[in-house]
Amino acid sequence: MPSYVDPSKCDGCKGGDKTACMYICPNDLMVLNVEEMKAYNQEPDACWECYSCVKICPQGAIFVRGYDDFVPMGGQVHPMRSSDSIMWTVKFRNGNLKRFKFPIRTTAEGAANAYAGQKGASLDDECLLLEASLPTPTK
Ligand code: SF4
Ligand code: SF4
Repeated sequence: MPSYVDPSKCDGCKGGDKTACMYICPNDLMVLNVEEMKAYNQEPDACWECYSCVKICPQGAIFVRGYDDFVPMGGQVHPMRSSDSIMWTVKFRNGNLKRFKFPIRTTAEGAANAYAGQKGASLDDECLLLEASLPTPTK
């Protein structure tokens, strides 16, 4: 089920050029209503619930609706980030709460590059970036 924005919590990322949720969504689904300064998911059917926008929102304003058969009757999973960890709060349908805290890497947003210096090494080579040679067909 798709993500949705709680408008009472969203502050439009305080009017920046691009909001955090717009920056992070791999499917470009989040947009900002500039008159209201509230973001929303413009195409819920295309959302694959990756939780990226939920995790990055500085206001904790984005939620994901759980599938009825998976988390019926109001179950909820919500993260809260700090500079060095992320805390997941799981609310069960009977009201129980459990919290799980994990360390996160501290690389600046957008700075991680696992293939530094290797991009576009040779466009004429038939091998993929991490292949030394093409695999030999077995049949
Ligand atoms: S990241 Fe959060 S606060 Fe910023 S525009 Fe999106 S929903 Fe609103
Ligand atoms: S959950 Fe993922 S795909 Fe869906 S709107 Fe958020 S970032 Fe985009």
